[in-house]
Amino acid sequence: MNSALRTAWLKTLWPVAALLGAALLIGLLTQHVWMALALTAIAIVAWQLWQLRTLLGHLNTRSTPRAPEGGGIWNEIIRVLSRRHHAARARKKRLVSMLRVYGHAGASFPDAVVVISGERNEIEWFNDAATALLGLAYPRDVGSSLDSHLMHLSVPGWLNRDDAQDSLPDEASPVDANIRLALKLFSYTDSARILIARDVSKLMHLEQVRHDFVANVSHELRTPLTVLHGYLDLLDDEEDPERSRMFTEMRQQSLRMNHLVEDLLTLSRLEAQEPSDEDVVSMPFMLAALRREAEALSGGQHVIRVSDDAHVDLWGSNKELHSAFSNLISNAVRYTPKHGEIDIQFRREGEGAALSVRDSGYGIPSAQIPRITERFYRVSNSRSRELGGTGLGLSIVKHVLNNHGASLEIESDVGKGSTFTCHLSAHRIVPRRPLSTAE
Ligand code: ADP
Repeated sequence: MNSALRTAWLKTLWPVAALLGAALLIGLLTQHVWMALALTAIAIVAWQLWQLRTLLGHLNTRSTPRAPEGGGIWNEIIRVLSRRHHAARARKKRLVSMLRVYGHAGASFPDAVVVISGERNEIEWFNDAATALLGLAYPRDVGSSLDSHLMHLSVPGWLNRDDAQDSLPDEASPVDANIRLALKLFSYTDSARILIARDVSKLMHLEQVRHDFVANVSHELRTPLTVLHGYLDLLDDEEDPERSRMFTEMRQQSLRMNHLVEDLLTLSRLEAQEPSDEDVVSMPFMLAALRREAEALSGGQHVIRVSDDAHVDLWGSNKELHSAFSNLISNAVRYTPKHGEIDIQFRREGEGAALSVRDSGYGIPSAQIPRITERFYRVSNSRSRELGGTGLGLSIVKHVLNNHGASLEIESDVGKGSTFTCHLSAHRIVPRRPLSTAE
C-alpha cells in the first residue's frame, strides 16, 4: 500500500474510531451505551453509503471526475479514478491520431487496398484508389462481398482459393478493361485479408512494345539472313586456303545469327502464350529423337544413356516440349567435356512425371543458378559463344514448361555436373498407347 493510501485510510479510520469513542462516552454518561453506539454506527454506515452513491455517480459519467481536495479514503478513490480517466483519455487520443495517420496513409496509397473478412469476403474498408481501380463506392459497398466486384478474373473464384496468395499478374479492371491490374492477397488475421490491386497498364504496354519490337526485328532479320546464308553456301574458294577459311567463318557466324533469330522468334511466340496445338506426345518417339540429336551433337564424344521407366505419354505441344527437352540435352552435351556422361531419364513422380537430364560436365556455381533462365544470362560468355550458344535456350525451356504448368528444377555442382529436371503434373499424363507395328 502506498503512503497516500495509508494516510487516506488513517484519515478515514481515526474519525470513525473517534466517533465510536465519543458515542461510548455519551452512552456511559446517559447510561444508554448500546443505543448511543447503534445510532453512531447507523450514522457512519449512512455516510459511507452516501459516499458510495457519489462514487457510483462518478463512475457513471463519461466526463473525467474532478479530483477532490480533502483527505479520506473516498476522496482518494475518486482521485485515483480521475488519474486513470486522464491517462485513458490521453491514450485514446494518441491511438485516434495514430489511426488517423494510418488511415490517411492507406487512403493516399496509389494502389487499391481493400480489407475483407469472413467466408463471403465482406468488404470492411477500402481506400480512394480502390474506387478508381475497382469501382468500389463508399458507403454503398461496405459490407458487400468483394466476389461480386471481381467476377471477371482469369482464375474463377481466385479469392477463395487456398493458393490465392499467388498473385494474378495481369487482370482487367472492372471499371475499364484498358486498365490492367496486378492483384495480390495477404492474410493478416485468421479471418481478415487485404487485397492490393496495382495499376500495371503502363508496364504492360511497355512490355508489349518490347515484345513487338523483338518479334518484328527478328522477323525482319530472318529473310536477309536466309539470303546471305544461301549465297555463302555457294561461295567458297577452295584454291585459296585463307579465303576458304574466311568463308567458313562467315558461314558459321551467319548460322549463329540464324539460330539467334529463330530462338528470339520462338521466345516471342512462347511469351505471347499463343495457344499451341496440344495432343498426345508419344514419349518413346520423343526419347528416341532426343537420343539421336544428342548423339549427333556429341559426335561420339560422350556416353549417352536414355531410360524410360514412366511408361506413360504426355499431353501437350509436341513441338514446344521437344524444343525444351532438346535445349536441355544440347546444353548437357555442350557443357560436358569429352568422355563425360549424359543421362536422360523419364520417370513417374507421384501422380505426375519427370524428365531429367543429368550430365557430368562443368557445373554451375550455386549463386548463378537462379539467374541462368534469364534471357542472355551466361555463366561464362566466352564458353557459351565458343560452343555456339545463343543465351536463350533455358529461357525457352522455362516458358515452355510454364505454358504446360510444369516447373524446372536445377541442381549443380561445379566440376561435377548438373541435373535439369522438368516436373510435369498429373493432368499432363496420358496412358501410353501400344506401339503399332507400323510405328
Ligand atoms: P546458351 O545458349 O548460352 O547455352 P542457355 O540459356 O541454354 O544459353 O544457358 C544459359 C547458361 O547456363 C549457359 O550459358 C551456361 O553457362 C549455363 N548452362 C546451361 N546448361 C548447362 C549445363 N548443363 N552445364 C553447365 N552450364 C550450363
